[in-house]
Amino acid sequence: MRKRFFISVALLIASVLAVALPKSGSAQERSGKYTIVIHGGAGTISESMPEAVKTQYYAALKHALTIGRDVLANGGTSMEAVEKVIRYFETDPKFNAGIGAVFTSAGRHELDAAIMNGATLQCGAVAGVEHVAHPITLAKLVMEKTPHILLAYQGADAFAVKMGMKPVPNSYFNTPERKTELEKWMKRLKDHDHGTVGCVCLDEYGNLAAGTSTGGLTGKMPGRIGDSPLVGDGTYANNKTCAVSGTGIGEEYMRNAVGFNINALMAYKGMSLKDAVHYIIHDVLKPGDGGVIAVDRHGNYAMDFNTTGMFRGVATSTGTFEVKIWK
Ligand code: ASP
Repeated sequence: MRKRFFISVALLIASVLAVALPKSGSAQERSGKYTIVIHGGAGTISESMPEAVKTQYYAALKHALTIGRDVLANGGTSMEAVEKVIRYFETDPKFNAGIGAVFTSAGRHELDAAIMNGATLQCGAVAGVEHVAHPITLAKLVMEKTPHILLAYQGADAFAVKMGMKPVPNSYFNTPERKTELEKWMKRLKDHDHGTVGCVCLDEYGNLAAGTSTGGLTGKMPGRIGDSPLVGDGTYANNKTCAVSGTGIGEEYMRNAVGFNINALMAYKGMSLKDAVHYIIHDVLKPGDGGVIAVDRHGNYAMDFNTTGMFRGVATSTGTFEVKIWK
């Protein structure tokens, strides 16, 4: 009788502790060490851009970096930082994600996004969504609330509604600048416009995360899906190696499994993050294809590209805080 009583008390205490104690990850000690790297797209970015426009880009990059840095410095997780940074970019019309997404050849917007947790290899992605203001958050919900990794088109839009996200009309993403770019692109007067956004982080618990969000390529065929929502191509994170977000011609990133291969060079060949990124960007991809940002579990980072520029920035717990566009 007494024994049964003690067993019940022990079980009760165990279940109370299971609920009250933080889950693994957040229960870990904080190392005081973090790194965050962001990008706002790579491509042909003219250095003769008006000073006022340059200033706006630098300010936006600093703003995004500050959002993520503050999450990490206050003990937030890499997943939280990635989502928060990308949600900001999705509201800034200068970037090709959320508002400001490029137009398809049919004059609409189809958005792609992915997020990946390097600690667990859990990931979620959406492709071709037309009515979701924050595709990155929908990608995280796919990861958390479904047994799947990638939802596309009407199924993804319907899932967003089911999750309580208010649908926006497709015109919500319109900007006059992107319309002009489509017109020029249709007349073959210019290359695809970039401006995809991404974020990779190492948090104080030693966990990596990566996320990417995009409208894809200007004038893409309706139904085209790029590399950004494809885990292992435009987005990848694994605590054993690195977290990567790419930007550029998605078809090349898919052909070369860019995110996974940077990880594989580190895992199987013992390459450093910097060397692995350099190899993929300069020896595997072609000049003009794009760039990547990446961070490893020690907080080393890389921001490399084979285009004229890449909107980018990095902040670390040791005081680095910089944003750049060109070399
Ligand atoms: N990689 C994106 C895509 O192909 C575009 C970009 O990064 O600018 O969809």
